[in-house]
Amino acid sequence: MNPSYALLDERLRSLYNDALNAARDVLQPIASQGVPGKVNRELVHALAGVLPGPVAADGGALPALDLCVIREALARHCTDAENAFALQGLGGYPIACGGGDAVRERWLAPLARGDAVAAFALTEPEAGSDAAALALAAETDGDAFMLSGIKTYISNAPEADVYTVFARTAPDRTAGITAFAVAGDAAGLRGESLHLAGDHPIGTLHLDGVRVPGTWVLDGVGNGFALAMQTLDRFRPSVGAAAVGMAEAALERAVAHARSRSAFGGTLARLQGITHQLADVATDVAAARLLVHAAAIAHDTGDPATSQASAMAKLFATETASRAVDVAIQVHGARALERGHLLQHLSSVSRGTRIYEGASEVQREIIARRLFR
Ligand SMILES: Cc1cc2nc3c(=O)[nH]c(=O)nc-3n(C[C@H](O)[C@H](O)[C@H](O)COP(=O)(O)OP(=O)(O)OC[C@H]3O[C@@H](n4cnc5c(N)ncnc54)[C@H](O)[C@@H]3O)c2cc1C
Repeated sequence: MNPSYALLDERLRSLYNDALNAARDVLQPIASQGVPGKVNRELVHALAGVLPGPVAADGGALPALDLCVIREALARHCTDAENAFALQGLGGYPIACGGGDAVRERWLAPLARGDAVAAFALTEPEAGSDAAALALAAETDGDAFMLSGIKTYISNAPEADVYTVFARTAPDRTAGITAFAVAGDAAGLRGESLHLAGDHPIGTLHLDGVRVPGTWVLDGVGNGFALAMQTLDRFRPSVGAAAVGMAEAALERAVAHARSRSAFGGTLARLQGITHQLADVATDVAAARLLVHAAAIAHDTGDPATSQASAMAKLFATETASRAVDVAIQVHGARALERGHLLQHLSSVSRGTRIYEGASEVQREIIARRLFR
């Protein structure tokens, strides 16, 4: 056994193998039929049939370690499935945690069945890393709220069926933020796709007086920022896990290529300049996996050092993935630069992991703050 799986018990190793097989045999063939940059509903539905979802129909959420195991396996064979899986969780978890009966009954079962698609709408044109600066306004209107403003770089927008939207109900920086569930077909909501490298389904949302019933507030007025952070805390180690899966895929490709590529009377695999680079990548991937699993266990056991552990895991794993893909491209030479090559795709999708859910610099801030506390 690869020693970097040492923190996983038998159940989790078997979950990992199930997810790996599902990604390769069931999900990748469906993903390959999707339209680039668009939500693949068939894939979302198939995922729900083969793996436990991040949020169940009764609102129960998968432990962070299970999320990591599944996301790593999916990312290794099918990044589209990994992305679809993660987004059902990011969009659905705030509803499960903070939704009242009406909103939970409306959305949790369809999300768990893969019949509805979720999204998490925090980022705005003037509020990215500094999410507490968000400005999208929610004004009271009787027992409802009217939401107006813009969200951007929202994965699954504008096609999602339900958005968790974070909006401003008072001037206080964090205590003035409230979370809402907003139906994708609500009057006053429109959006357009953005075209990102890696064909990630993502877009901008314009809310122009979208009326949201008070019963669709999540976790009470003024608690939205805490709910956003609670959601991101749960998912952050698993962003690292997805990056580990991408790094592993790049490494496997590089090893296979080095074995078969003839050069200088042998293969690339006989050149130490190649094999030692790959040995370093393999070591970093193993270390990243252990950090990811340790952070998820810290989260699941309520360890007070969770924030720092998660920041370290996300930082190290996502930076490792970029290095792994870069080395794999170098080992492949020109062919890896051909449009449509797997390594081109991995280069784009792994690059994104260093930016979303807290850029690497933000993770370093979290780690440093604890050091100098
Ligand atoms: C593929 C992808 C999917 C996404 N999906 C979603 C989604 O579903 N929902 C959603 O709400 N958002 C989503 N986002 C947006 C993402 O969360 C933001 O891009 C991210 O928070 C960074 O914000 P920004 O791009 O505005 O960069 P900025 O906040 O403008 O920061 C730019 C750069 O400045 C540096 N920086 C920022 N803060 C600090 C600091 N404190 N110290 C030092 N350097 C710093 C970092 O290098 C950072 O990359 C997605 C983004 C991508 C790329």
